[in-house]
Amino acid sequence: MTATRIDGKAFAATVRAKVATHVSHLKETHDLTPGLAVVLVGEDPASQVYVRSKGKQTVEVGMHSVEHKLDADTPEADLLALVETLNQDPAIHGILVQLPLPDHVNADKVINAIDPAKDVDGFHISNVGLLGTGQKSMVPCTPLGCLMMLRDHHGSLSGLNAVVLGRSNIVGKPMAQLLLGDSCTVTIAHSRTKDLPEVVRGADIVVAAVGRPQMVPGDWIKPGATVIDVGINRIEKPEGGTRLVGDCDFDSCAEVAGAITPVPGGVGPMTIACLLANTLTACCRAHGLPEPEGLTA
Ligand code: NDP
Repeated sequence: MTATRIDGKAFAATVRAKVATHVSHLKETHDLTPGLAVVLVGEDPASQVYVRSKGKQTVEVGMHSVEHKLDADTPEADLLALVETLNQDPAIHGILVQLPLPDHVNADKVINAIDPAKDVDGFHISNVGLLGTGQKSMVPCTPLGCLMMLRDHHGSLSGLNAVVLGRSNIVGKPMAQLLLGDSCTVTIAHSRTKDLPEVVRGADIVVAAVGRPQMVPGDWIKPGATVIDVGINRIEKPEGGTRLVGDCDFDSCAEVAGAITPVPGGVGPMTIACLLANTLTACCRAHGLPEPEGLTA
């Protein structure tokens, strides 16, 4: 391996430590505790794990954590009523409705019912529009985590060619907007992109968010490029059992890249750290206080 390994686990720990310092300062100086409410509908096992982990880390950084667990058959109207109650609650600065929601619930309607100022996932249509027009917004956590790691590694991203693989609303599109905001020349690739290997070979920065195990081989990577692997895929091991891999073939990419994030231990841990950062930011904005430096886009 020749590439520098970008350690997302360690980076996330430094983000959480910064958040914790700010939280304790807010308590001392303003008697203020940022609060995060997480709403889980149904019993999707992966969602349950995420929600548990979010609650635990929220408490660890000194924030107020509230969890609402609703039955899978909860009517949409009840969910909307809960969101409205949380919108009005002054102790809550961030609201996250865990996706996916059951089929009978219109997820867009629920997300757009969240007060945009408390939308710490950054999925509300107002925040999407603000990000797209380069205005101050709440930024989706996973792309924000990728941006922080890229800024930390490169310093300035200005003028670099960035290719984002994937055009989802939660990763690909906001990631591309953030890179554009930092003056990269951005290409968004997707399943209809022609000659994907050539497109990727032109990139100084590759962000892979496709959901296809080890799809990107090392010979697609420009020597010295930075590879941020968002993918989380579970595959069978030859000896039995399973393991997590990214969208990039780590070993071959690491031979060519200048820097690369591993899976697990790369982008994944940064996502919850950025959720905490967004909650802190939302709290500061709600009270007209200066935003924490280095924790926003
Ligand atoms: P989506 O399924 O919503 O989007 C996948 C994107 O990849 C689509 O735009 C699709 O193109 C594109 N794509 C699919 N196949 C190909 C292909 N063969 N060539 C080029 N592009 C292709 O996924 P998400 O954005 O939600 O997630 C992507 C990955 O990131 C997943 O593995 C997910 O688990 C992971 N993830 C990780 C997070 C973390 O915290 N680390 C958080 C969120 C997601 P098209 O639009 O044309 O169909």
